[in-house]
Amino acid sequence: MSATEKVLTGKTAFVTGASRGIGRAIALRLAADGAKVALNFASNGAKAEAVKAEIESAGGSAMLVQGDVSDFATVTGLVKKIVDDWGRLDILINNAGITRDNLLLKMSEDDFDKVIATNLKGVFNCTKAVTKLMMRQRGGRIVNMSSVVGLKGNISQTNYAAAKAGIIGFTKSVARELASRGVTVNAVAPGLINTDMTAALSEKVKEVMLQEIPAGRMGTPEDVANAVAFLVSDQAAYITGQVLSVDGGLVM
Ligand code: NAP
Repeated sequence: MSATEKVLTGKTAFVTGASRGIGRAIALRLAADGAKVALNFASNGAKAEAVKAEIESAGGSAMLVQGDVSDFATVTGLVKKIVDDWGRLDILINNAGITRDNLLLKMSEDDFDKVIATNLKGVFNCTKAVTKLMMRQRGGRIVNMSSVVGLKGNISQTNYAAAKAGIIGFTKSVARELASRGVTVNAVAPGLINTDMTAALSEKVKEVMLQEIPAGRMGTPEDVANAVAFLVSDQAAYITGQVLSVDGGLVM
Protein backbone atom coordinates (compact mmCIF):
# COMPACT_ATOMS: atom_id res chain seq x y z
CA MET A 1 0.00 0.00 0.00
CA SER A 2 1.70 3.20 -1.07
CA ALA A 3 1.09 6.73 0.15
CA THR A 4 -0.02 7.75 -3.34
CA GLU A 5 -3.22 5.69 -3.20
CA LYS A 6 -5.00 8.25 -0.95
CA VAL A 7 -6.84 5.45 0.87
CA LEU A 8 -7.83 7.82 3.70
CA THR A 9 -9.62 10.42 1.56
CA GLY A 10 -12.64 11.82 3.46
CA LYS A 11 -11.24 10.72 6.82
CA THR A 12 -10.00 12.94 9.65
CA ALA A 13 -7.24 12.10 12.11
CA PHE A 14 -6.05 13.40 15.49
CA VAL A 15 -2.34 12.73 16.07
CA THR A 16 -0.92 13.58 19.49
CA GLY A 17 2.72 14.65 19.72
CA ALA A 18 2.78 15.45 16.01
CA SER A 19 5.36 18.24 16.06
CA ARG A 20 8.40 15.97 15.99
CA GLY A 21 9.74 12.46 15.54
CA ILE A 22 7.34 9.55 15.15
CA GLY A 23 4.17 11.67 15.49
CA ARG A 24 5.37 14.01 12.75
CA ALA A 25 6.07 11.08 10.40
CA ILE A 26 2.64 9.58 11.15
CA ALA A 27 0.91 12.92 10.50
CA LEU A 28 2.73 13.39 7.19
CA ARG A 29 1.90 9.83 6.13
CA LEU A 30 -1.81 10.01 7.03
CA ALA A 31 -2.03 13.33 5.18
CA ALA A 32 -0.27 11.80 2.15
CA ASP A 33 -2.85 9.00 2.31
CA GLY A 34 -5.60 11.64 2.04
CA ALA A 35 -6.70 12.27 5.65
CA LYS A 36 -7.18 15.72 7.16
CA VAL A 37 -4.87 15.75 10.16
CA ALA A 38 -5.19 17.62 13.47
CA LEU A 39 -1.67 18.09 14.84
CA ASN A 40 -1.33 18.11 18.61
CA PHE A 41 1.82 19.18 20.46
CA ALA A 42 2.75 20.41 23.92
CA SER A 43 4.82 23.55 23.41
CA ASN A 44 6.87 23.40 20.22
CA GLY A 45 4.69 25.67 18.05
CA ALA A 46 7.33 26.37 15.42
CA LYS A 47 7.92 22.68 14.71
CA ALA A 48 4.16 21.98 14.61
CA GLU A 49 3.65 24.91 12.20
CA ALA A 50 6.36 23.43 9.97
CA VAL A 51 4.54 20.07 9.85
CA LYS A 52 1.27 21.86 8.98
CA ALA A 53 3.03 23.83 6.23
CA GLU A 54 4.57 20.64 4.82
CA ILE A 55 1.16 18.94 4.67
CA GLU A 56 -0.47 21.98 3.06
CA SER A 57 2.27 22.48 0.51
CA ALA A 58 1.68 18.88 -0.61
CA GLY A 59 -2.03 19.71 -1.10
CA GLY A 60 -3.32 18.27 2.19
CA SER A 61 -5.29 19.74 5.10
CA ALA A 62 -4.10 20.16 8.67
CA MET A 63 -4.95 22.12 11.81
CA LEU A 64 -2.97 22.74 14.96
CA VAL A 65 -4.46 21.65 18.27
CA GLN A 66 -1.99 22.56 20.98
CA GLY A 67 -2.51 21.15 24.47
CA ASP A 68 -1.26 18.87 27.21
CA VAL A 69 -2.69 15.38 26.71
CA SER A 70 -2.46 14.70 30.44
CA ASP A 71 -5.27 17.19 31.08
CA PHE A 72 -8.71 15.73 30.38
CA ALA A 73 -10.55 19.04 30.00
CA THR A 74 -7.93 20.27 27.53
CA VAL A 75 -8.19 17.13 25.44
CA THR A 76 -12.01 17.29 25.39
CA GLY A 77 -11.72 20.85 24.07
CA LEU A 78 -9.31 19.78 21.31
CA VAL A 79 -11.60 16.97 20.16
CA LYS A 80 -14.57 19.38 20.17
CA LYS A 81 -12.62 21.81 17.98
CA ILE A 82 -11.73 19.08 15.48
CA VAL A 83 -15.32 17.87 15.25
CA ASP A 84 -16.72 21.44 15.08
CA ASP A 85 -14.36 22.26 12.19
CA TRP A 86 -14.32 19.00 10.27
CA GLY A 87 -17.59 17.31 11.29
CA ARG A 88 -16.14 13.93 12.15
CA LEU A 89 -13.17 12.09 13.64
CA ASP A 90 -12.15 8.73 12.24
CA ILE A 91 -8.63 8.14 13.49
CA LEU A 92 -6.90 8.74 16.82
CA ILE A 93 -3.16 8.19 17.16
CA ASN A 94 -2.08 8.31 20.81
CA ASN A 95 1.58 9.05 20.23
CA ALA A 96 2.60 11.85 22.64
CA GLY A 97 5.19 10.66 25.12
CA ILE A 98 8.06 11.69 27.35
CA THR A 99 10.90 10.06 29.27
CA ARG A 100 12.25 10.91 32.72
CA ASP A 101 14.84 8.14 33.09
CA ASN A 102 16.54 7.18 36.32
CA LEU A 103 17.30 4.12 38.39
CA LEU A 104 14.41 3.33 40.73
CA LEU A 105 16.65 4.15 43.69
CA LYS A 106 17.07 7.68 42.36
CA MET A 107 13.73 8.23 40.62
CA SER A 108 11.63 10.99 42.15
CA GLU A 109 7.92 10.65 42.71
CA ASP A 110 7.45 13.55 40.32
CA ASP A 111 9.38 11.74 37.54
CA PHE A 112 7.14 8.72 37.99
CA ASP A 113 3.93 10.74 38.09
CA LYS A 114 4.79 12.92 35.05
CA VAL A 115 5.54 9.96 32.81
CA ILE A 116 2.40 8.09 33.87
CA ALA A 117 0.30 11.25 33.44
CA THR A 118 1.54 11.98 29.92
CA ASN A 119 2.18 8.50 28.52
CA LEU A 120 -0.67 6.53 30.11
CA LYS A 121 -3.34 8.91 31.38
CA GLY A 122 -2.92 10.90 28.16
CA VAL A 123 -3.98 7.79 26.24
CA PHE A 124 -7.02 7.36 28.51
CA ASN A 125 -7.95 11.04 28.11
CA CYS A 126 -7.79 11.12 24.32
CA THR A 127 -9.44 7.74 23.88
CA LYS A 128 -12.30 8.59 26.23
CA ALA A 129 -12.78 11.92 24.46
CA VAL A 130 -13.35 10.21 21.07
CA THR A 131 -15.11 7.00 22.11
CA LYS A 132 -18.75 8.13 22.08
CA LEU A 133 -18.25 9.82 18.72
CA MET A 134 -16.61 6.80 17.10
CA MET A 135 -19.32 4.51 18.51
CA ARG A 136 -21.98 6.79 17.04
CA GLN A 137 -20.14 6.85 13.71
CA ARG A 138 -20.02 3.03 13.88
CA GLY A 139 -16.39 3.07 12.89
CA GLY A 140 -12.99 4.32 13.87
CA ARG A 141 -9.35 3.51 14.28
CA ILE A 142 -7.30 4.02 17.43
CA VAL A 143 -3.56 3.30 17.52
CA ASN A 144 -1.64 3.64 20.77
CA MET A 145 2.13 4.07 20.86
CA SER A 146 3.57 1.54 23.27
CA SER A 147 7.22 0.47 23.17
CA VAL A 148 9.43 -2.61 23.29
CA VAL A 149 10.20 -1.31 26.78
CA GLY A 150 6.60 -2.08 27.75
CA LEU A 151 7.18 -5.67 26.64
CA LYS A 152 10.58 -6.38 28.14
CA GLY A 153 11.32 -3.64 30.69
CA ASN A 154 14.44 -1.51 30.78
CA ILE A 155 16.91 -0.34 33.38
CA SER A 156 16.24 3.29 34.41
CA GLN A 157 12.76 3.24 32.86
CA THR A 158 10.42 1.82 35.53
CA ASN A 159 8.08 4.77 34.99
CA TYR A 160 8.19 4.56 31.20
CA ALA A 161 7.91 0.73 31.13
CA ALA A 162 4.93 0.83 33.50
CA ALA A 163 3.18 3.37 31.26
CA LYS A 164 3.97 1.50 28.04
CA ALA A 165 2.90 -1.88 29.50
CA GLY A 166 -0.21 -0.17 30.86
CA ILE A 167 -1.03 1.02 27.34
CA ILE A 168 -1.10 -2.60 26.18
CA GLY A 169 -3.66 -3.62 28.82
CA PHE A 170 -5.67 -0.50 28.08
CA THR A 171 -5.57 -1.20 24.33
CA LYS A 172 -6.84 -4.77 24.71
CA SER A 173 -9.63 -3.69 27.06
CA VAL A 174 -10.90 -0.87 24.86
CA ALA A 175 -10.58 -3.11 21.80
CA ARG A 176 -13.00 -5.55 23.46
CA GLU A 177 -15.41 -2.74 24.39
CA LEU A 178 -15.54 -1.19 20.91
CA ALA A 179 -15.11 -4.10 18.50
CA SER A 180 -18.85 -4.56 17.87
CA ARG A 181 -19.10 -0.90 16.79
CA GLY A 182 -16.51 -1.23 14.04
CA VAL A 183 -13.83 0.59 16.02
CA THR A 184 -10.43 -1.12 16.12
CA VAL A 185 -7.88 -0.39 18.83
CA ASN A 186 -4.29 -1.54 18.43
CA ALA A 187 -0.87 -0.75 19.84
CA VAL A 188 2.43 -0.34 18.08
CA ALA A 189 5.63 -1.16 19.95
CA PRO A 190 8.57 0.61 18.33
CA GLY A 191 12.11 -0.42 19.12
CA LEU A 192 15.02 2.00 18.87
CA ILE A 193 13.83 4.77 16.55
CA ASN A 194 15.90 7.74 15.44
CA THR A 195 14.20 10.79 17.03
CA ASP A 196 14.94 13.55 19.57
CA MET A 197 13.96 11.09 22.31
CA THR A 198 16.75 8.67 21.41
CA ALA A 199 19.18 11.43 20.44
CA ALA A 200 19.42 12.01 24.18
CA LEU A 201 21.01 8.55 24.63
CA SER A 202 24.80 8.27 24.66
CA GLU A 203 26.53 6.69 21.64
CA LYS A 204 27.72 3.91 23.93
CA VAL A 205 24.18 3.01 25.03
CA LYS A 206 22.99 3.10 21.42
CA GLU A 207 25.86 0.80 20.32
CA VAL A 208 24.93 -1.75 22.98
CA MET A 209 21.26 -1.60 21.94
CA LEU A 210 22.18 -1.95 18.25
CA GLN A 211 23.94 -5.22 18.97
CA GLU A 212 20.60 -6.62 20.14
CA ILE A 213 18.73 -5.62 16.97
CA PRO A 214 18.77 -8.42 14.34
CA ALA A 215 18.17 -5.87 11.53
CA GLY A 216 21.39 -4.16 12.59
CA ARG A 217 20.09 -0.60 12.41
CA MET A 218 17.94 1.90 14.23
CA GLY A 219 14.42 2.34 12.91
CA THR A 220 13.19 5.51 11.25
CA PRO A 221 10.00 7.38 12.18
CA GLU A 222 8.75 6.38 8.72
CA ASP A 223 9.16 2.67 9.60
CA VAL A 224 6.65 3.25 12.42
CA ALA A 225 4.37 5.43 10.26
CA ASN A 226 4.13 2.62 7.67
CA ALA A 227 2.75 0.23 10.32
CA VAL A 228 0.30 2.85 11.59
CA ALA A 229 -0.88 3.61 8.04
CA PHE A 230 -1.77 -0.06 7.63
CA LEU A 231 -3.55 -0.32 10.99
CA VAL A 232 -5.78 2.69 10.25
CA SER A 233 -6.65 1.52 6.74
CA ASP A 234 -9.74 -0.46 5.70
CA GLN A 235 -7.43 -3.42 5.11
CA ALA A 236 -6.93 -3.75 8.88
CA ALA A 237 -10.67 -3.84 9.69
CA TYR A 238 -10.45 -7.31 11.27
CA ILE A 239 -7.33 -6.59 13.37
CA THR A 240 -7.99 -5.35 16.89
CA GLY A 241 -6.43 -5.63 20.33
CA GLN A 242 -3.02 -6.40 18.85
CA VAL A 243 0.47 -5.17 19.60
CA LEU A 244 2.59 -4.77 16.48
CA SER A 245 6.32 -4.50 17.13
CA VAL A 246 8.27 -2.30 14.74
CA ASP A 247 11.73 -3.01 16.01
CA GLY A 248 13.95 -4.77 13.48
CA GLY A 249 13.41 -8.03 15.37
CA LEU A 250 14.53 -6.76 18.79
CA VAL A 251 11.64 -8.51 20.56
CA MET A 252 10.54 -11.88 19.19
P1 NAP B 1 9.86 12.99 20.61
O1 NAP B 1 10.67 13.12 19.35
O2 NAP B 1 10.45 13.33 21.91
O3 NAP B 1 8.49 13.78 20.40
C1 NAP B 1 7.54 13.78 21.44
C2 NAP B 1 6.27 14.43 20.95
O4 NAP B 1 5.29 14.37 22.02
C3 NAP B 1 6.44 15.91 20.64
O5 NAP B 1 5.59 16.23 19.56
C4 NAP B 1 5.96 16.61 21.92
O6 NAP B 1 5.49 17.94 21.71
C5 NAP B 1 4.82 15.68 22.30
N1 NAP B 1 4.45 15.77 23.72
C6 NAP B 1 5.22 15.54 24.81
N2 NAP B 1 4.51 15.73 25.93
C7 NAP B 1 3.26 16.08 25.54
C8 NAP B 1 2.07 16.42 26.24
N3 NAP B 1 2.00 16.41 27.58
N4 NAP B 1 0.97 16.75 25.51
C9 NAP B 1 1.00 16.77 24.16
N5 NAP B 1 2.11 16.45 23.44
C10 NAP B 1 3.22 16.12 24.14
O7 NAP B 1 9.35 11.45 20.77
P2 NAP B 1 9.34 10.25 19.72
O8 NAP B 1 10.63 9.53 19.83
O9 NAP B 1 8.83 10.69 18.40
O10 NAP B 1 8.26 9.31 20.44
C11 NAP B 1 6.89 9.34 20.08
C12 NAP B 1 6.19 8.21 20.82
O11 NAP B 1 6.80 6.96 20.49
C13 NAP B 1 6.28 8.33 22.34
O12 NAP B 1 5.09 7.85 22.92
C14 NAP B 1 7.44 7.40 22.69
O13 NAP B 1 7.35 6.93 24.00
C15 NAP B 1 7.21 6.30 21.66
N6 NAP B 1 8.40 5.50 21.38
C16 NAP B 1 9.55 6.07 20.91
C17 NAP B 1 10.66 5.27 20.65
C18 NAP B 1 11.94 5.82 20.11
O14 NAP B 1 12.91 5.04 20.01
N7 NAP B 1 12.03 7.07 19.72
C19 NAP B 1 10.58 3.89 20.89
C20 NAP B 1 9.42 3.35 21.39
C21 NAP B 1 8.32 4.16 21.62
P3 NAP B 1 6.50 19.23 21.76
O15 NAP B 1 7.29 19.17 20.48
O16 NAP B 1 5.60 20.39 21.82
O17 NAP B 1 7.37 19.03 22.96
